[in-house]
Amino acid sequence: MSWRLARLQLPEPCLVASRRRKLHGCFSINIHSVYDFGRRFMITVYPSLEHFSQAAYDAMVRSLDLSRISCTCGMEGALYFNGSYKRRIKTKTDTYLLRVQRTRCRSCGATHAIFPADIIPYNQILLDEQIAIIRNHESGDGNRDLLNANPDIDENNVAAVIRRYDKVWMEENSDITADGSSQDSIVRKSFERTERQFLQIKRTSNIFVNRPT
Ligand SMILES: [Zn+2]
Repeated sequence: MSWRLARLQLPEPCLVASRRRKLHGCFSINIHSVYDFGRRFMITVYPSLEHFSQAAYDAMVRSLDLSRISCTCGMEGALYFNGSYKRRIKTKTDTYLLRVQRTRCRSCGATHAIFPADIIPYNQILLDEQIAIIRNHESGDGNRDLLNANPDIDENNVAAVIRRYDKVWMEENSDITADGSSQDSIVRKSFERTERQFLQIKRTSNIFVNRPT
């Protein structure tokens, strides 16, 4: 049954009743499951890859034990691998398409793209480059070398990173990028404080997962 059909066939009074946890003779339904079906979330796997590449990404995915990861609906062991898609990634020196593995939850139907801690959701530039852009900007060194290294990263990209950091992250979390903080330390602190990846703007749920190293 499709999600649209399932939704159409649910009597509205039952949905309201289940929200209030008072069911008056109608069937019980997990409201979070209904509304998560077909929604797209993400999983961020910590720590970062040693050398970012498709092979390293694939090895990281293979190392995951999905039975020990809880879905955003709260169900543990319900995720399974479910297709993939291509995503454009800009590294320090080049740009390529990464094949991103997706999972789906048997319980609620939500999908979760698996990202290494190197990736910021909805952003093509890798996290280490964005941290470098912020540090170069704050130190006054500028980003000329970085722009020369990968022609696909332009001044508009750099300005967008700095703008996003200034507007959304700097006020409360500027200490996260303090001198000497490693990328993984920045990622961990960001998830501890905001439940999101560093520089992630959209508040889409992002599950933090420690992988075996
Ligand atoms: Zn779920």
